[in-house]
Amino acid sequence: MQVLKFGGTSVANAKNINTVVSIVQEKLKEDIRVAVILSALGGITDALLEAATLASLGDITYKEKLLAIEQRHLAVVKELIPLDKQSSVLSMVKKRCNEIEDTCNGVFLLKELSLRTKDSIVSYGELLSSQIFAAKLKSLDINNTWKDARDLIITSSDFGNATVDFTVTNKNIKDFIATVDSPVIIVPGFTGKDKSGNTTTLGRGGSDYTAAIIGAGIEASVVEIWTDVSGMMTADPRLVSNAKIIQEISYQEAMELSHFGAKVIYPPTIQPLMNKGIPVVIKNTFAPSYPGTWIHNEIKKNGNSIRGISSINNLSLISLEGSGMVGIPGFSKRLFEALSNEKINVILITQSSSEHSICVGIEEANADRAKTVIDEAFAYEIEIKKVEPLVVEKGLAIIALVGDNMKNHPGISGKMFGALGRNGVNVRAIAQGSSERNISAVIALTDVKKAINVLHEEFFETTYKQVNLFITGTGNVGSKLLAQLQQQQKHLQEHLRLQVRVAAISNSRRMLFNDEGVDLSKWKELLQDGEAMDMNEFIATIQEKNLRNSVFVDVTANEAIAKSYPEYLKKSISVVACNKIACSSSYEYYKKLKDLAREFNALFLFETNVGAGLPVIGTLNDLLRSGDKVNRIEAVLSGTLNFVFNNYTGEKSFATVVRQAQDEGYTEPDPRLDLSGTDVMRKIMILARESGEELEMEDISNESFMPESCMKGTVENFYNEMEKHEDHFLQLITKAKQEGKKLKFVAKFENGKAAVGLQHIDPQHDFYHLYGKDNAVLFYTDRYTEQPLVIKGAGAGAEVTASGVFADIIRAAG
Ligand code: ADP
Ligand code: ASP
Ligand code: MG
Repeated sequence: MQVLKFGGTSVANAKNINTVVSIVQEKLKEDIRVAVILSALGGITDALLEAATLASLGDITYKEKLLAIEQRHLAVVKELIPLDKQSSVLSMVKKRCNEIEDTCNGVFLLKELSLRTKDSIVSYGELLSSQIFAAKLKSLDINNTWKDARDLIITSSDFGNATVDFTVTNKNIKDFIATVDSPVIIVPGFTGKDKSGNTTTLGRGGSDYTAAIIGAGIEASVVEIWTDVSGMMTADPRLVSNAKIIQEISYQEAMELSHFGAKVIYPPTIQPLMNKGIPVVIKNTFAPSYPGTWIHNEIKKNGNSIRGISSINNLSLISLEGSGMVGIPGFSKRLFEALSNEKINVILITQSSSEHSICVGIEEANADRAKTVIDEAFAYEIEIKKVEPLVVEKGLAIIALVGDNMKNHPGISGKMFGALGRNGVNVRAIAQGSSERNISAVIALTDVKKAINVLHEEFFETTYKQVNLFITGTGNVGSKLLAQLQQQQKHLQEHLRLQVRVAAISNSRRMLFNDEGVDLSKWKELLQDGEAMDMNEFIATIQEKNLRNSVFVDVTANEAIAKSYPEYLKKSISVVACNKIACSSSYEYYKKLKDLAREFNALFLFETNVGAGLPVIGTLNDLLRSGDKVNRIEAVLSGTLNFVFNNYTGEKSFATVVRQAQDEGYTEPDPRLDLSGTDVMRKIMILARESGEELEMEDISNESFMPESCMKGTVENFYNEMEKHEDHFLQLITKAKQEGKKLKFVAKFENGKAAVGLQHIDPQHDFYHLYGKDNAVLFYTDRYTEQPLVIKGAGAGAEVTASGVFADIIRAAG
């Protein structure tokens, strides 16, 4: 015989109930006898509780609620059962609903709702659904026996969460089953009866437990839990869109997962079936051909040591602390006694090895009561200051990794806490059962979704990891970057297993958010319709979204934005900057950003600050990390100046060549930063800082070749003045040409000193053959003594800069 349990959604309406009927018919076709356990119609238990509560508050609208409940059942009967067979069922529904109303009227008059009365009221949900179902089968001439669960399941009088007396219950079930021979037995779920005959319930979600009790009692061949998902999943599908069906799972694992919040099965369900070795299958009523999840003990190894991840929301941590606790037995006994006397369930316990504190996780709803009773229990010790008053922290949650095989795999907790740390999830307490089947961590409630997704990616995602980008700046480089991201989306997913989502775009005017990722094929139009840009709001929204693997990307040259990086880093959001302002402002700020990144496990990357897409900073970091020492850096770092001096032959004026460089996108937004040498100063300073030198801009000497008048006033004035000084520029190149040399604007760093200036380069030098907008960097180090390590290539241009930013993004996503 098999036990089939159908949950609330499976019997929510006539259409679903018909589906359930056909599942039962399939079993009968295969000559399988079944016991069918039914939940109330979806939502009815809550509706009944609501009506009862309204009545207890003296709110007459409970009558409307009850009417709606009655009408919903009547409508189901009318749709489900042929007209000529309806009347007796309709009158059964009316009779039951009258009984509910009578009880609620009493509650209304007395303004009192005891747990006992509550149980009596909610039990009608299952009574109604199961009797309607029995009538439906009868109308189809399917022989069945309806049995009130209260005649079988005998419990304690803990109303709302009663404990089953298995000795009596098992006997009742065995005696009953011996007397029936119909192929279908129907039993309402959730309900039982105490020794005095009062109706009790088994706890919310308790119909699963009814199925287990009946299954164990009749020694069923299998208990099938039919619900609205295709099995137990690696995580709650409402939180993790990529959650996967678990094909099979051990009893213990299923028990742990359900205890830690996997609602798909009510936690006590497993135990009675495990004791008898009866397998449990979780199946989807709406996709019956799917195999579902098998819960049993002969599990094949599948290579994954983690079976699932679950979470419990609304947790409080209560901590008892004090010097008086050390070495004295009995403190924890008194603490747990106080909790147990109040029937407060303990979810998690940790104690520090100094015995200085005990920390207990309980449901938040019980926290205030716990505080009162524990402070009372330790009133004396609190008074003599041996123990502190109980500390209560609210707004927390538990996440738990579950898997039988964890104990054979070192490094799982390292991986777990590493992933959480990288995403800025603060862990308040940790517990690991001695069975090593579970590692649980207490975190902020607001971090649950992110944490579960991060862990799911870490342990289950073989297909991809999601990276969320917040991009600010849509100018030359920004728009190229967005185009590259769009083009490479498929490549990233297939080859790097990264799903890169642009979750926000902003520029100086507008901002746009989309957690699912902005459609990059039309970001311009979408951004135009976005909200007005407000930097503080932009930051606050990103922080609030709390998405996993987040990277903020600054492709502006804006100072205010460069000042905002700490807001991201502090939330463990990595920062990728093409903007040079942060790294070239005060050493103190540069250092602060580096420290914040380290402290909050984020990355702060700015490869494009020097040499655009060329791997300059990455190479320098690799040299230093591997123990090399930089003795001298010589570099041509201005793509703009190189372009200008390569193209300036005296035919066109110097000003015209500079304008051409600006038009082609090789200059900073303000070209004077390039021509004055300031941009080169910033770059050599960044390289010096990355080499460990505390350098400021004032420490760098700059022999500018620009006449002073050019650098005053507006950009237009700058061009006009350059025209006026054409002779000066002509002289510069003529002199170099006469010596057979070329002009290059060179930056140097040696012995803690940096300088920039125009130099005459002879044909043997590495810098002689630099064309177009090329940059070149020579690193002289302990390892590269005579011949430097040379990095050379295009050092300016939106496309290469964007690709450098792209590479940093991939690094940050790593
Ligand atoms: P029923 O009414 O059939 O008893 P429940 O609502 O009690 O159904 O349980 C099924 C729901 O449990 C699913 O719809 C799903 O949202 C939720 N759930 C939470 N965690 C998990 C998990 N790990 N696997 C599957 N479902 C889960
Ligand atoms: N109807 C009850 C509830 O909603 C029991 C169940 O469905 O399992 O909690
Ligand atoms: Mg359920």
